This record gives sequence, structure tokens and C-alpha cells, in this order.
Amino acid sequence: PSRIHEVTAGPVARAPDRIALVEGGASWSYRELEQRVGEIATVLSSLGIRAGDRMIIVSENCIALAALLLATSRLDAWAIVANPRLSARELDQIRDHSGARRMFFTSGTSKEAAAHASRYGAENWRIGPLAEIGVGPLNESATVQPVETDPARQVAVLIYTSGTTGTPKGVMLSHDNLLISAKTTAYFRRMNEKDKIHLVLPISHIVGISLLIMTLMVGGTVRMVSKYDPAATAKAVAEEGVTILNGVPATYQRLLEYKSVSGVEQLSRGSLRLIAVAGAPLDLNLKLRVEKEFGLPLLNGYGITECSPGISGVRFDRPRSDQAVGTLLPGVEARVRTIEGFPTVSGEVGELHVRGRNVMLGYYRAPELTAKVIDSEGWFNTGDLARFDGDCLYIVGRTKEMIIRSGFNVYPAEVEAVLSSHKDVVQSAVVGRAADGNEEIVAFVQLLPGSCTTPETLMHFVRSQLTSYKRPSEIVILDALPATSTGKILKHKLAESLREGGA
Ligand code: ATP
Repeated sequence: PSRIHEVTAGPVARAPDRIALVEGGASWSYRELEQRVGEIATVLSSLGIRAGDRMIIVSENCIALAALLLATSRLDAWAIVANPRLSARELDQIRDHSGARRMFFTSGTSKEAAAHASRYGAENWRIGPLAEIGVGPLNESATVQPVETDPARQVAVLIYTSGTTGTPKGVMLSHDNLLISAKTTAYFRRMNEKDKIHLVLPISHIVGISLLIMTLMVGGTVRMVSKYDPAATAKAVAEEGVTILNGVPATYQRLLEYKSVSGVEQLSRGSLRLIAVAGAPLDLNLKLRVEKEFGLPLLNGYGITECSPGISGVRFDRPRSDQAVGTLLPGVEARVRTIEGFPTVSGEVGELHVRGRNVMLGYYRAPELTAKVIDSEGWFNTGDLARFDGDCLYIVGRTKEMIIRSGFNVYPAEVEAVLSSHKDVVQSAVVGRAADGNEEIVAFVQLLPGSCTTPETLMHFVRSQLTSYKRPSEIVILDALPATSTGKILKHKLAESLREGGA
């Protein structure tokens, strides 16, 4: 395939009746999917969607979303998938920045999408086989982007990053970007047509869309999950023949919490053959607990929206017992540089730069921002601090989160790992606070419900495990840490709360 909608062609030729998509009691075979995507594309075109238009789809994971996405690709338009949980302000920002031709809402299946739809004055339409799709008004002044015949130049999706760093950016990913990342990741995981994935990660996020594409590419089945519910996930794994489960660390954390409150002795593994995690630093304790529960290795993978997302992963046939993010995916080149851009000694920590077919085309309407992260030779600076041990990659933290304390570099991830190893700590986040030309370390901690551990006890605990310059000056206990919809902690919010003079 050279375009994302072409991933169904192989499965249609080999086994057209195999089930591609499942949602509740409904299912679409590969043959049905291909045919219906064609019908939908025709209707979209009659609704004024042209090649080179941006099209926003406000939707949770469902069959309609997958079909609309593939139909957009068929028209050579750009898809922007937006999570209905975004606020009105965030959605307005995306609409204005992208200059979208129209907005579509899965109003029939999502209350949140329907609420957004009515705010934009959308009307309910039947789009081919899809009932009750909210269709927003046509933006007459939307500009058309040039259509590229080269799949490596043609934008397939525009992804607005969830913004753990504050400013939303529109990442332009080409068909080639998405296909190469999906293909190499599927290869690392030995995915095949017998695989059935329980898709809890939102398709609005790069990891979700990549999982959708890679599963269709191998002819497997995608079970669409609109909202992550640990109890329903445990049940699906036990009873529905799910072979692959993917999540961010919070997905697994919540699954284990569900287990402990429900009193279930052991979560059933059912037909699971592979469990994988990506998207945020993986706590070693969590990894061990999940592995014990399912009796399977939890395969860590590392990526970033700008790399579609695949950079590295732990291979199915080479599981690891530590927090390594595995080896580079085929075709991805990497180098580690000092923050000033100089080569590092092998094994030393530095900024990770990558190059390959997975690297984005750029940030939409922000060429200066693109030039800041991609150099003239195509190297993309991930902004992550990393080191190699042989060919195995470790992520140490993010450059912008590194704290410089009395001239020493402190990587928050190291301090967080110590705090999170305390029996009463659910999760922690460490940020820097400016103090007299120096930086102090402040740790925010979320405790297990009912725990009466105090900041003093935690200070004492940390003291025995970290050298003095790495120890927090203050530990703040919060009921919950602010996080994105994928469970990534919003550190800039915590840092802001410090600047505003109170946690
Ligand atoms: P922004 O770029 O605005 O901060 P974001 O955090 O949502 O937005 P994503 O592309 O979703 O951006 O996340 C990519 C980042 O997530 C990586 O740069 C890295 O810091 C972190 N990350 C992803 N996978 C892993 C992993 N397996 N281990 C550690 N960190 C990871």
C-alpha cells in the first residue's frame, strides 16, 4: 500500500470475509469495509470535501471513525481526528489553525461529540452506511493544499499533539510516514491476520491511529473501544479472543486498580499473546506487576508524534526485564548529542536525534518551528534524553524537564522512579523551581487511597536512595496529578502552580 486507505487491499484479496472492525455487536468484514469506504468518500465529496482540504472528525474510537478516516485518505484530503473530550476552546483552536473545510461528529454514538456538534450548528446526516453523523457547516473560505502524487509528500493526517509542553502543534504526517512506522512495529511484534486487538488508545492520538493501521495492514481484527474501562477490558480479554492489548502505563495501572477493588484473584489472560506499552515512561514496579498478572512480558516501545510514532521497541522475540525501550525500528537512524549539539561518548546520556522515513513532514503553518527541530540533513531532535547500551535504547527524560541543580544534571525520571518504588505511592512527578539562580527540585506525589504517609516519611525514604543534589527540597502530596487523556502527567501545569506560589 502507498496510501493509508490501501491497507485493506491485501486482506480483501486474501480473505475478504475476515472481520476487520468490531464495535459492540456490529462487525465489518474487509470486503464490507473497502466497499463502504468508497461509498462514504462519494458522499464526502458531494458535501464539498476536495483533495487538499483539512477535515476534522470529532469522535471516540468506533467503526464510523475508522471508515471516515480511510475515506478522507481516498479523497486525498487531510484527516484531523479530535477527541470529543477536548474543550470547546481547544476544538476552536484546532478548527481555526487547520482552516478545516468541514467538521464531522459521531453524534449518534457520543454524547460529547453531539454536544460539540450542536455548538457548531451541525446537522445530522446519513453518510453512506453511517447513520447520525453530525456535519458542520461548509467553510467556504477554506484553502486547498497542493496534492502530491508522492505518498512520502502527501499529508494523510494532521495531529495536534496533546501538549504536555503547553503549545499545541499540528504535526503533518504523510502516508509513507504512517505506513512505514506501522509496518516496522507490526514486524517487531510478529503481528498476523489471527491477531485481534482491543483498541483502547484513542485514534485521535498517534499511538491509536498507528495501531489501527498496523492491524488492518496484517489483516487482523480491531475491536473499537470508545472509552477505556478496565472492567470491560478485563472481560473482553477473558472472553473475546483478544490477542493483543496495548496501552499507556496508566491503562495498565487502572487495570490493576480494578483488580484490587473488584476482589478478583487473578485477571484472566484469555487468548492474549502480546501486551505492549508506550507513550510515557514505564515504572519498573508497574511492569513487574503487570507481567506477573498476565504471565507475559510487557513490551515497551518508544515514539513521538513527530516520528509517526515508531522509533524503537522491545521485540516480541527478545523481551527485556528492565525499562529499556528496545532497539531501533528498521530504517530508523539515531544519534545522541550533547545539548549543544556535539557528539557524545558511546553510552553517555544526551539528546536523541533520529532520521528516517518515519520523520514528519513538519509542523503545519509553522516553518520556523519545524526548522528548530529538523536540520538540513533530516535529523529530528526528539527533545528526549537518552542513552544506548549496545543497541538497546534507554529514555532518561526530556531535555526541557532536566533540572540543573548546583551545576549537576538531575533527570526527573530517576527521582520519580525512587518515589514511585515506595509502597504507598501511585505516581509522582518531579519539576524544577528557580531559586536564587539555582534550581530546586519539587516532587508531586499521588498516594494510594487511604494512605497516611507524610512528606516527611517520603523525604526519609528518598534520602537513603538518592545522593543529596538529587533529593527534592519539597514533596507535595496531591489527590491526583494533572494528566492528558493518555495519562501523561502535565508537568508544565505543576511547574506553573509553583510559579504562581502554591501547589
Ligand atoms: P508535547 O510534544 O507537546 O509534549 P506529547 O507529550 O503529547 O506532546 P507525544 O508525541 O504524545 O507528545 O509523546 C512523545 C513523548 O512521550 C516522547 O518524546 C517521550 O518523552 C515520551 N515517551 C513515549 N514513549 C515513551 C517510553 N516508552 N518511555 C519513556 N518515555 C516515552
